[in-house]
Amino acid sequence: ASKRAGRGRFSYYDATASADSARGYALERELPRAVAEQQLVLHFQPKVRLNDCRIMGFEALVRWQHPEYGLIHPGEFIASAEATGAIRALGDWVLKACCRQVAAWRALGLDTVPIAFNVSPVQLRDGAFAERLAAHIADHGIAPSDLMMEITESCLIEPRALALSVLEQVRDMGVSIGLDDFGTGFSSLSQIKDLPIDTLKLDRSFVNDIRSSSEAGVIVTSVITLAHNLKMRVVAEGVELMDQLVYLKTAGCDEAQGYFLSRPVGAHAAEEMLRAAYLHPA
Ligand code: C2E
Ligand code: MG
Ligand code: MG
Ligand code: MG
Repeated sequence: ASKRAGRGRFSYYDATASADSARGYALERELPRAVAEQQLVLHFQPKVRLNDCRIMGFEALVRWQHPEYGLIHPGEFIASAEATGAIRALGDWVLKACCRQVAAWRALGLDTVPIAFNVSPVQLRDGAFAERLAAHIADHGIAPSDLMMEITESCLIEPRALALSVLEQVRDMGVSIGLDDFGTGFSSLSQIKDLPIDTLKLDRSFVNDIRSSSEAGVIVTSVITLAHNLKMRVVAEGVELMDQLVYLKTAGCDEAQGYFLSRPVGAHAAEEMLRAAYLHPA
């Protein structure tokens, strides 16, 4: 069985293949109960402004604290959750957990930054998605601008009209939207310019190649320029090295995220970062 391609790809076949392994099958079967029994946790990875490494936001990344297997990353369970439909309950848990985290930081008197959550195409196929999101925001007494939503291009494939209307509703309520893994799919900037998207997240494969290939550098620079002309911000994903950070800064990229800056961390470490307001990469 091939390894999971991740949220950006269609994954129904992968999900079947995953059941080949006993562990994959067990995870698929146990996930609904894991959501109900609070075995999921969020880790948070900061996004920093390239000028000065100020923390501008966090991305919430789900993990499963499995009683037997330990901490499991989403690559092992998101695709099968999409295939079985368990992603709806999982996604709803993630939304609430993000709201709860912002509210907790607010209650401590901290200057909060937006928390971004990831959504699957399956979640956007639900016409009531925006309504539920609004209800969670209201229930937790936070503001829509306390959250951001990250989608992938696969969210924009069939039924496109429904997905677009959900995106419009989400943006209209004041939750900004980022397009994740940009560059791995088939969309060009001209195709996404009319979508309600505020931020482009440059996929880490481009960031990775900046050093080795001058073409990658040219592509990155052009995408940043074009995105800015279209009034979108650009966040670079997967920055692992100092020279990538320097290159991106020179190319005018707005924000960056990656292991060089910080790995995704637990809520307590994220709170410490929030208090410090800036990261100080090595
Ligand atoms: P993503 O949204 O593109 O998130 C970025 C992934 O890259 C995360 O993996 C993050 O830990 C990893 N990463 C960050 N910086 C670096 C770096 O410098 N180098 C490398 N090699 N990797 C880096 P993670 O947490 O395993 O998540 C994988 C994917 O699972 C996410 O990709 C997202 O598509 C999905 N996912 C995570 N949480 C959720 C969720 O709550 N709901 C849904 N539907 N999908 C989620
Ligand atoms: Mg993401
Ligand atoms: Mg990404
Ligand atoms: Mg990516």
